[in-house]
Amino acid sequence: MKYIFVTGGVVSSLGKGLTAASLGALLEMRGLRVRIQKFDPYLNVDPGTMSPFQHGEVYVLDDGAETDLDLGHYERFTSGKLSRLNNLTSGQIYESVIQKERRGDYLGKTVQVIPHVTNEIKARIQQSGNGVDVLITEIGGTTGDIEGLPFLEAMRQFALQVGPKEALFIHVTLVPYLSAAGELKTKPTQQSVAKLREIGIQPQILVCRCDHPLGEELREKLSLFCNVPTKAVIEERNVESSIYEVPLMLQKEGMDDLVIELLGLKAPRNPKNIWVEILRRIIHPRHEVTIGVVGKYIELQDAYKSVYESITHGGIANNCRVNVVRLDAEALEARGGTTALRGLDGILVPGGFGERGIEGKIVAARYAREHGIPYYGLCLGLQVAVVAFARDVLGLRGANSTEFDPRTPHPVIDIMEEQKKVVDKGATMRLGSYECQLTPGTLAARAYGAKSVRERHRHRYEVNNAYLPQLKGAGMVVSGLNPRRNLVEIIELRGHPWYVAVQFHPEFQSKPSAAHPLFAAFVAAARKHRRTSRGHRKVRRR
Ligand code: GLN
Repeated sequence: MKYIFVTGGVVSSLGKGLTAASLGALLEMRGLRVRIQKFDPYLNVDPGTMSPFQHGEVYVLDDGAETDLDLGHYERFTSGKLSRLNNLTSGQIYESVIQKERRGDYLGKTVQVIPHVTNEIKARIQQSGNGVDVLITEIGGTTGDIEGLPFLEAMRQFALQVGPKEALFIHVTLVPYLSAAGELKTKPTQQSVAKLREIGIQPQILVCRCDHPLGEELREKLSLFCNVPTKAVIEERNVESSIYEVPLMLQKEGMDDLVIELLGLKAPRNPKNIWVEILRRIIHPRHEVTIGVVGKYIELQDAYKSVYESITHGGIANNCRVNVVRLDAEALEARGGTTALRGLDGILVPGGFGERGIEGKIVAARYAREHGIPYYGLCLGLQVAVVAFARDVLGLRGANSTEFDPRTPHPVIDIMEEQKKVVDKGATMRLGSYECQLTPGTLAARAYGAKSVRERHRHRYEVNNAYLPQLKGAGMVVSGLNPRRNLVEIIELRGHPWYVAVQFHPEFQSKPSAAHPLFAAFVAAARKHRRTSRGHRKVRRR
């Protein structure tokens, strides 16, 4: 097995995760089995307890691990499924080292960063690469961060132990353009590489993020000062239309050839390139729809990352450009707030926690129901749809989720029984993949084309089964059910063109090459809505 370590320099948010994911995609295209993982130097055990303001989306794996959103990129760009072994944090390492110390595993010794913490990190690298040809490990943060040092030290030791041609260091860095000077500047990269070399790591490949072409002269300068061959200076320009351009961009720069050569691998070029077709469909789609996403963290780029990506995938599957209008749920609460929803071809309410913006999301679910607009609710998006339905259709005044109103007279959404005794906040929700049985003939069953599916979860509340007879009697259809525990997993509305809400997170299982069936069906429904509502308008004008 071969090991690639990806570090980042100069600034954060360079798109290291995307670079690692794109490299993984290229290597996979050449027939190699690839796994990508992330080591995060912060002290949280996992990002599950961090707010989207701090950390963006929490990405959930099949096994229920709450992980960094970069793992979403890894799963979208490559075919392997990841596990909780693939997102290591300093918090996990220290937790484990301290437990061992208390147990007496290090009896008589002083417990230290080198070797005890670094051994722990190295052991994880060994463990997490089972069954693949290439294991790519991205180190979170930026070189020079104090927390990152033990990780870099562990990588250095690891590379030494496995020997040359077995491990490879790639440094992703920023080459900024200074408009006053009218040129790209290499000094920050030089300094960041110097910092790495100080701790004994010489990167063999430099990936330079830039918004202007590097040019031969600059490549030579970077080569000279950073001690890498010029052909290993890779330009990664800002993408024009889609992140799915990155694999092709890196391929043009010869990155996969270079990696394969440096690691002494044999992997023939593949004439078939799926990324070309994916990109063609993104750049030149035949159709167009506009979808509103109603959320609380609408201004943050990363809070609903997988949702936005999955919408794009749904577009790819339908040969359709999807314009996403981000709507702040709180703004919908105001009088006249629903004007923002007018003219949308579809409305999506993603997951969320906490009371803020809830009434606005309920407004969105109601508006879609009353106006026959395709509605797609994800997790909390299902819960608000049920609350709206209970209030409006069943006439249950004050109906709510006990998450937002513990004293509601009609707790149509209630905390799951086993959650009532949970005190700790970390990793205690209903997490990970569970079976969902589909009701034949429903929109969901048709979209999936299956009888039963597995989907990933992250929630504490659920539909209160005591209200099911009433809800069903008034036209709500339960199209997906967890067979073991009888939990409602998917609902639809009889008589509505496309109103589907799910208790799970389908956005964690969608890829550009294989859109999640419900996202594909939602975009298809939005297209249909656009066609028919336009038709209506025309008729009226005549
Ligand atoms: N807050 C809700 C719950 O805990 C919904 C969670 C979510 O949308 N992920 O059940």
